[in-house]
Amino acid sequence: MATTKTENKTPAKNKWSLCNETDKKIIFKFCDEYKTFLSENKTERECLTSSVALAEKNGFKNLETLVKNKTKLKAGDRVYSVNKDKTIAMFVIGTDDIENGMNIIGAHIDSPRLDLKATPLYEKNGFCLLDTHYYGGIKTYQWITMPLAMHGVVVKKDGSIIKINIGEKEDDPVFYISDLLPHLKKDKTNQEVTGEQLDVIIANMAFKEENKEICINNIKQILKAQNVEIDDFISAEIEIVPAGKAKDMGLDRSMIVGYGHDDRSCAYASLQAILECKNPKRTAVCLLVDKEEIGSYGATGMKSRFFENAVAEIINLCTTYNELKLKRALTNSNMISSDVTAGFDPTWAGAYNIDTDAFLSSGISFNKYTGARGKSGANDASPEYIAKLRKVLDDNKIFYQFTEMGKVDQGGGGTIAYILAQYGMNVIDAGIPLLSMHAPWEVASKLDIYHSYLFYKAFLKDM
Ligand code: MN
Ligand code: MN
Repeated sequence: MATTKTENKTPAKNKWSLCNETDKKIIFKFCDEYKTFLSENKTERECLTSSVALAEKNGFKNLETLVKNKTKLKAGDRVYSVNKDKTIAMFVIGTDDIENGMNIIGAHIDSPRLDLKATPLYEKNGFCLLDTHYYGGIKTYQWITMPLAMHGVVVKKDGSIIKINIGEKEDDPVFYISDLLPHLKKDKTNQEVTGEQLDVIIANMAFKEENKEICINNIKQILKAQNVEIDDFISAEIEIVPAGKAKDMGLDRSMIVGYGHDDRSCAYASLQAILECKNPKRTAVCLLVDKEEIGSYGATGMKSRFFENAVAEIINLCTTYNELKLKRALTNSNMISSDVTAGFDPTWAGAYNIDTDAFLSSGISFNKYTGARGKSGANDASPEYIAKLRKVLDDNKIFYQFTEMGKVDQGGGGTIAYILAQYGMNVIDAGIPLLSMHAPWEVASKLDIYHSYLFYKAFLKDM
């Protein structure tokens, strides 16, 4: 009989022991900047705006302007293309013919959250509440009894946009979803929080009106002072997210707790990699996309043609466009789907296979395939591609692990990997392992964040 592998073994895989003081300082500094990014960017639009600002600061030019001016592109040029304020493709033109393929890293900047419905505001028993519909795969009970913030946009009929960001500044009010107190939870069989129960309390101050106490009219006045009418919620996109900043976690400060590590940790690492990419051989690309958490559908998800269209425009500015060139450029590409994965959790060890799953602080985690059951729905990376990646990893001294996500048949998941793979390009998933993925506050290891960045940078340069 095989011996059971000891359950509480410390993974020999923990790579902090291979870091000296200087390494730690570099990792911590990189992660301090990441924490700021994570704290300041809690929606896909906010991530997009910050990414564009960083791109422009680092010499990237807007593709739209280049197209309008018919500006020709040459090797070394830096270009970005924005799709509907939620998705961005950044290119650094290579010396090699683009027909020979690009090196692409793709992450997503949408995260699980609660979205306001189109007619969200109502009054009930002296409270004003906002009705929500959750976005992405969440465990509903995790989102209650904590300070919540409100981020988003209200678009007026004249097209003007009012940006909303309430709950993040020190003296801002926050919002809240309540729960039943334990004293009144006699029937313990039915304690599930339903999606409809995820309504956010925003007011409790009532005023006498026609012999009734009413609080909704006061809220209407408060909104009006900000130029928002009730009907404006119809053309708004407001996301309820955990309020507060990302923070160092642990006495050793080795981890970060924050909202939206999935997938802004990989997005940030990918973004930094392309910003630092200079004069690559193959055209380097960083994609930051929306809608991954709900299946990549819609005009701003990876399943839309925005990327293909942007590449077509790039080819047209590099040489003369034809469809065959576009097809070759896509088919001959290498891609990293930079998305987070499940990190082994000692408290929930039963769901994992300790020998094959990812560990925090063991480096960037590669998933040859994701999917569920018999790899259903997976992009299954080829060994030929993986062999080339191993060389890049080892040549650049990257800390890495090749892993699965939980026990076989335990569950599963997907990323944007299979969508890009439809072009016939090489694709693999590689990203940062998390504790409590999709919870309001997720945990990542600083070492993994930094080594993912190192890998993405090496991949753009060396593949
Ligand atoms: Mn993800
Ligand atoms: Mn996710």
